[in-house]
Amino acid sequence: MRNPMFVYDEKLTDLIFDYCRWRLSLDPVPLDYGGAVDESLAARLDGLINAAGTDPVAVMELFDKTLATAAVSVDSPRFLAFIPAAPTKAALLFDMVVACSSLQGTSWIEAAGPVAAENQALGVLTDLAGLPEGAGGCFVAGGSAGNLSGLMVGRDTARHRMGDDAPERPVVAISEEAHSSVGKALHVLGIEPLLVPCDDHRLTGWALRDALATHPRGDDVIAVVATGGTTNAGIIDDLDGVADVAEERKLWFHVDGAYGCAALFAPSVRDRFRGIERVDSFVVDPHKWLFAPFDCAALLYREPRLAKAVHSQDASYLEVLHRDTPEEWNPSDYAYHLTRRARGMPLWFSLAVNGTDAYRDAIETVLATTQATADLIESLPHLELVRRPELSVVLFRRSGWGKADYEAWSDHLLEEQAGFVMHTTWEGEAVGRLALLHPDTSIELIAELLASTA
Ligand SMILES: *Cc1c(COP(=O)(O)O)cnc(C)c1O
Repeated sequence: MRNPMFVYDEKLTDLIFDYCRWRLSLDPVPLDYGGAVDESLAARLDGLINAAGTDPVAVMELFDKTLATAAVSVDSPRFLAFIPAAPTKAALLFDMVVACSSLQGTSWIEAAGPVAAENQALGVLTDLAGLPEGAGGCFVAGGSAGNLSGLMVGRDTARHRMGDDAPERPVVAISEEAHSSVGKALHVLGIEPLLVPCDDHRLTGWALRDALATHPRGDDVIAVVATGGTTNAGIIDDLDGVADVAEERKLWFHVDGAYGCAALFAPSVRDRFRGIERVDSFVVDPHKWLFAPFDCAALLYREPRLAKAVHSQDASYLEVLHRDTPEEWNPSDYAYHLTRRARGMPLWFSLAVNGTDAYRDAIETVLATTQATADLIESLPHLELVRRPELSVVLFRRSGWGKADYEAWSDHLLEEQAGFVMHTTWEGEAVGRLALLHPDTSIELIAELLASTA
């Protein structure tokens, strides 16, 4: 007798596919409530997992009515907090193909087809960045995993290059605005950060040079991290100036573009990323502004062989992975992971069927709506723009408001299902923040939200 869990079940399949079809067709998707639910979820789940199993219709009913509504829809055009998401329909559908086919992308010997497709998608990104032929990498779970894996290569490459001159306790220069995941990565790697003070929240070559010259540990710096669009305010560092210093001092140059480097697709702002073509490694999250489903981040190296020297895993059962044929590419060689789903495939499929112009247009639409939002804020007497947005994050003040008022506004908007927004801190002050990412977030929608601040 076969184990029933592995037998094709038409009714179960219809149940799930019908749900997926319905969810995909929602336009707009409801915002829903996240943690703002007033019942105990644990109590509702109690007893669901038991020895005999529960009827799938009842489980889906509970998922649909109780669990799904306790997650704010990050793909709603009304989701303007943190960093939203807006996966394309093509990418979502292909994610189901990846799941139903158990597609993995660990090594060439197991999965040359999916790996070749993922590499084609990565190639679009290295071309946009202007990296030379031969650049490449892999898809990892998120920007955090990308920063950690990239900086690990920076650390070990410096150690190898410097030999006996390598500092015993290496230091990496980062700006005060670097993402928290960078600090965490350095902590894991046993590297001390050198915090470069920044004028106007932007790391420049000049500030970096000055910090290296004056800081007592300046000579132990082996790498520098610049940000290609800060998460809090969308500020792009002076990548070209930082690259000059990195070149002079032989520092590993890593750019964290998890959020912002998607805008490499947008001709209207492409110039602000000048210098990105000089990186040793960089990260961009397609699960943010490149419209891919979670979890998908691209980690790219100028010289992938340096990453391979650091990340290849040594285990007797893995030796067979390396045959060194010309086409062979093992994603497991380019980050700290081993087994991985072929998480770049949904992006690959969406790029292939939609074309890159559609990506350019979607990103330009968001950039234009952001500028319109800034204009609208400037036109309203009770609101003040904190600074002109460079990408798609808008910071603003409501005169007379403190933290509690912004919080009350957020709660009110979620209660009304009008929007999901969160305030942030800017130079010690609580301010309003809108993060745009969904091309369907219209200026009319934003005007409606801002009207409720009056
Ligand atoms: C989101 C973000 C990260 C972290 O990426 P995850 O995908 O959440 O791990 C790192 N850096 C920047 C600039 C980000 O915006």
